[in-house]
Amino acid sequence: MVHQLFFEPKGPFFKIAARMLTSVKNKKTIRLITMVEYFFKELLYDCYRCGDCYLSDLELLCPQSQCPKRLINGPCGGSRGGWCEVWPGERRCLYVRQYERLKDIEELFSRDVAILPPRDWGLDRTSSWINFFAGRDHHRLRNLDESTKNEKMP
Ligand code: SF4
Repeated sequence: MVHQLFFEPKGPFFKIAARMLTSVKNKKTIRLITMVEYFFKELLYDCYRCGDCYLSDLELLCPQSQCPKRLINGPCGGSRGGWCEVWPGERRCLYVRQYERLKDIEELFSRDVAILPPRDWGLDRTSSWINFFAGRDHHRLRNLDESTKNEKMP
């Protein structure tokens, strides 16, 4: 719900959030925003503070903390019976969990891109909220790379 309200262009608070977060120039305020963001994300998603957030692409599952290979476009092919090959019997594969969270598989096929752009490691430990609205994160590449726009899953 928070994502829909603030981070979707049609959300009621999208414009105000964009205006606020892109106008911040003061280093102390940026540090404060970063602290608040990661306080909640660490609590809720076991966030690794990568600064280029994929939660909205993966049904609120973090690929940095929950996939040992940090795959953005998984699964890797090693999972058996839904278990991660690195932690068999301990952790379920992130991509199996994503699939289970989808209400409808059609939802996945209807997305504008099937292959997600790579993470920008230069954004590590910076605020992904600010990076998103400033057009610095992978969402920017999704918009630029028209060639992947209509690519569908096999
Ligand atoms: S994708 Fe990055 S910013 Fe988002 S929850 Fe995971 S580590 Fe944190």
